Amino acid sequence: MEGYFDHAASTPIHPEALAEMNRLAQTVFGNPSSIHNFGRQAAMELELARDVIAASLGVKSHEIIFNSGGTEGDNTALIGVAMSQKDRGHHLITTAVEHPAVLETMHYLESQGFEVTYLPVNEKGQLSVNALKEALRPDTTLVSVMYANNETGNLLPIKEIGELLKEHPTIFHTDAVQAYGKVSIHPKELGVDLLTVSAHKFNGPKGVGFLYKSDQVHLPAYLHGGEQEEKRRAGTENLPAIGGMAKAASLLTPEAMAENAQRYRQFSEKVTNALTDSGVNWQLNGDPEHKLPQVLNLRFPKVANDLLLMKLDLQKIAISTGSACTAGNIEPSHVLEAMYGKSSATKESIRISFGLGNTDAMVDFLANSLVALVSQMQD
Ligand code: PLP
Repeated sequence: MEGYFDHAASTPIHPEALAEMNRLAQTVFGNPSSIHNFGRQAAMELELARDVIAASLGVKSHEIIFNSGGTEGDNTALIGVAMSQKDRGHHLITTAVEHPAVLETMHYLESQGFEVTYLPVNEKGQLSVNALKEALRPDTTLVSVMYANNETGNLLPIKEIGELLKEHPTIFHTDAVQAYGKVSIHPKELGVDLLTVSAHKFNGPKGVGFLYKSDQVHLPAYLHGGEQEEKRRAGTENLPAIGGMAKAASLLTPEAMAENAQRYRQFSEKVTNALTDSGVNWQLNGDPEHKLPQVLNLRFPKVANDLLLMKLDLQKIAISTGSACTAGNIEPSHVLEAMYGKSSATKESIRISFGLGNTDAMVDFLANSLVALVSQMQD
């Protein structure tokens, strides 16, 4: 038995998405920008994929810009808005718990003379919309708040923020990399102008994603060159990957998302019930009322998370400490630090994330291994 429980890091590709990639790679190899028949066929497939993605968000097809994934989407949105709105202001707002694709881009923008407010979160990792309201200034050009957090699974108050920003000319970006395919997202209803998605988090291929850009918003191109993507993102489109992504997206209907949520909620309960029943000392990191059931971030007092990760790895169980590993050292999680301050929680917490391929038997195996290892380590 083995178990992969790190779907928030990356997911296995869905067999139907892989079949679609193979079909496109083998039979539709023309360049979508070429005007001959081979090119036109590729362009047609590209637009079909765009329609599928647009329909999943309830937006217009030309509001979807294909790109290389979450990091590119976040960079394009943040740098594009900051630079193009310079005449209006230099103030940007984000949260302390964003992914590095946002945080590091904000640090870069600070080095370019922008001022960034990093909103704090409470002990549950939740953001106060009031604090955001107070941080807003006439010169604020961008608010970027993630839809769901990659370490805790917390869902942030995107709808409320959208409501608030209706009264303000600032542009609203959300990094929906962890949320897309897990919950229904309707940017128009939410008042979201820009939204970042990455295919490898929902059983699509790696290195591909898209940026939703409302046609009400002007955003300069980030990559310059050819006229692809209506001159908004130069470079020949990766059609097999885009087609694979659209296939993976098409499988995640609202009904499928609801079924998945129900299954992963049961998996979470299986793990937490086993821990409670065996008397293990554990706590949930995150906001149980507002979170994705796919992600379970647990703290085990007195248990070194790096050691636990290695012991589970020896049993072929993959989980994460939720934080980056730099030159062999596990850095304390900035998300847990934002929640608790400097606390041993950052060294005692693990992230379990469920997804395609996980079965009840695998989750039992995980629960049993966790109980055995943690009881031993807490002794
Ligand atoms: N944003 C979030 C919330 C993520 O979880 C990730 C990936 O871990 C990214 C952005 C980066 O996406 P990509 O790996 O497609 O560059």
